[in-house]
Amino acid sequence: MKKIKVTLAKSAGFCFGVKRALKIAQETSKNRKTIEMLGDIVHNETVVKQVQKTGIKKVSHLSRGKNKTLLVRAHGTSQKLINTAKRLGYSIVDATCPMVKEIHRIAKSQQSKGYSIIIIGDKKHDEVLGIIGQLKEKAMVIDSSKNIPGTKIKKIKKAAIIVQSTQDIEKILPVVAKIKKNIKTVKFFNTICRPTRIKQDEIRKLPLKNDIMLVIGSKTSANTKRLYQISKSLNKNTFWITSKEEINPEWFKKAKSVGITAGASTPDYTTKEVIEKIKALEANTR
Ligand code: SF4
Repeated sequence: MKKIKVTLAKSAGFCFGVKRALKIAQETSKNRKTIEMLGDIVHNETVVKQVQKTGIKKVSHLSRGKNKTLLVRAHGTSQKLINTAKRLGYSIVDATCPMVKEIHRIAKSQQSKGYSIIIIGDKKHDEVLGIIGQLKEKAMVIDSSKNIPGTKIKKIKKAAIIVQSTQDIEKILPVVAKIKKNIKTVKFFNTICRPTRIKQDEIRKLPLKNDIMLVIGSKTSANTKRLYQISKSLNKNTFWITSKEEINPEWFKKAKSVGITAGASTPDYTTKEVIEKIKALEANTR
């Protein structure tokens, strides 16, 4: 294989919120005995395994909480769940990303001022469920401009729109425009977090400058999926891989350059392994 120019996005890999959550998990595992977590700390299988090695147990439901700690994940959770955990005796360590907390704050404050809350995001994503779970009254979730419930929306007099932190602004704006046509008073809070914005800015440039693109991250990661979708729309030779094992040497046959990015929950060593494998392919076929 000929020489390939590899360009790694500056923003590839762990975001601030994931780094912070993992640090909290590590510190908690040193200081406390029985630690439970509902679901995965972040959406990445390798990271999840590492966290489990520290003794933090993933559980599917809460049980008796005496002498136990409940670790809340980066995506956050509902207030109801925190209250139940406290009632059961758990002590709480909250690793919710501060940027998700800020979305909670905005949603609660706007609802208390009489605004109906509309969340633009993935209906079943933990972060979205966590936001809904902060609110006293029901929030509406819209996942795309094609799925706006016309009749329901026309009944709303004033609405505050907030956005799941990892959404793509270009997909959000048409949704906001449609909602504004149907509701008289609308406040729009662009709550896409800064690390996501930086990643998405980069992924709008890299695919245009490279023959092929690799997006590294778990298939369960919403932000990786978004990076892949943006990249694919700009460069059809975009491949979404979870690790070096999924690299197909065929992809590189005609390529002179490869751009690489990685989702917010992809560890740096996974990305490093991918780059090393590309270099090894190069060396083996020279
Ligand atoms: S993607 Fe954004 S909101 Fe989510 S954990 Fe990272 S920094 Fe926080």
